[in-house]
Amino acid sequence: MASVSGGDAVDVPRFSRHDVTTCNAETRLMAGPKLKIEIDRDECIADGACAVDAPGTFEMDDEDIAILKSEITDDRETILEAARNCPTEAIKVIDAETGETLFPED
Ligand code: SF4
Repeated sequence: MASVSGGDAVDVPRFSRHDVTTCNAETRLMAGPKLKIEIDRDECIADGACAVDAPGTFEMDDEDIAILKSEITDDRETILEAARNCPTEAIKVIDAETGETLFPED
C-alpha cells in the first residue's frame, strides 16, 4: 500500500470524509483523481464484488456491507469498473471537479 513518509511530496491519493448525503450512504471525496464515491447501504447485497475488483477502495464492514477504505489506493478506472460490476448499482461515482455522474450513466 502506498504511503506518505517524511514530509516528502508524494503523489498519492488522499481522502477525507465528505458530507454524507443520506443516512444510508457513505460518501468520500477522493483528493487525488478527484472522485466522489457513494455507497448506498440499502442497495448493497453483500456479495463482496467491489472489494475484489477494487480492494484498495472497498472493504466489507462487520455487517457485510461495503464501505470505503480510509485510504484509497486504486486508480480511477479500477474504481469505475468496480462500480459497473456492482449487481445492484449501489455504488455511485461522481467527478468531484465537474459534478458529472460517471456511474451510473444516464
Ligand atoms: S459490489 Fe455492490 S452489492 Fe456487492 S458488496 Fe459492493 S456495493 Fe455491495
